[in-house]
Amino acid sequence: MIVVSRATNNPYQTLGVPVDASAEEIKSAYRQLALKYHPDRNRGDKDAEDKFKEISEAYATLRDPESRRAYDTYGQAGDYRRPDFSQVDWQTIFSEANIDIQWDPRQGAPRTGNAVFDVLFGAFTGLMRNSGLLPGEDRQLTFVLPLRKARPGDQHRVRVPGPSVCPTCLGSGMTSAGAPCPTCYGRRVLAGGSDVIFTLPESFHSGQKLRLRGLGGPGSPPGDAIITIQLILPTESKLVGNDLHSTLYLTPLEASQGLRTVHHSTSLAIPKGTKDGDIIHQSNGPMGGDHIVTVRLSVWRGIWRRATNLLQNLTESTEE
Ligand SMILES: [Zn+2]
Repeated sequence: MIVVSRATNNPYQTLGVPVDASAEEIKSAYRQLALKYHPDRNRGDKDAEDKFKEISEAYATLRDPESRRAYDTYGQAGDYRRPDFSQVDWQTIFSEANIDIQWDPRQGAPRTGNAVFDVLFGAFTGLMRNSGLLPGEDRQLTFVLPLRKARPGDQHRVRVPGPSVCPTCLGSGMTSAGAPCPTCYGRRVLAGGSDVIFTLPESFHSGQKLRLRGLGGPGSPPGDAIITIQLILPTESKLVGNDLHSTLYLTPLEASQGLRTVHHSTSLAIPKGTKDGDIIHQSNGPMGGDHIVTVRLSVWRGIWRRATNLLQNLTESTEE
């Protein structure tokens, strides 16, 4: 069992060295404590993990002459600000103390599977990403698209979760004229996410992924924004390839007189004397393939269709 002293903000106390200790003495004290509290030797021991993090931060504070001087000058005063440990070069610190860390050169990130290292390095890798030293992460999002708006070639707007590359300047921070970008004000990255315009391809299906290169998380190279299209079909319809199969309800009177109507974005001419179960085959369906319509006769569902069509037309004309 490890007895952990109460967390202290005094790095000398944490490492058990006098205030006039030499750099070599500080390193040696840290090395001994680090070996004792190394998370690999204390698996699952939360206190040891905290202690390891605490001594590592104390060492990082005293190792750097500038931050040690800052602590010596202001450390006991209330206005002392702890260093930003995400800026610390942990890789060098651990190798100086002969602490074995698996480093994945491809990812430029440690592979420890250990909570403490993940916390220490999580901030570190985030910093490296933001400074363009690591590849950016892809950003995944789903775009819900009702069939009546699924026109190939149309443009739509989506929200890419942040932090993401500024889509206006593509992460350069500048306009082409050399002025600061009006969207990110030169910051290159939008912390809260970005609005991105994309174009529906000529042919697509529900579940299809569209990749917008370089518009994901910041890094070098930046990640991509990946949009999954979730197509919402009207009730009683299905897609077979690009062919839409649907059901159209008519009143018996409409069927006997014939009519022109728009059904799921397709203009249809229903001939006089159409019977229940007749199938109308129309090319140029809403998804680019055919539209195969099965006509059913029903007084109430026919009336209901006319009412909802009317309502939808009214809503759309007020929307536009
Ligand atoms: Zn910008």
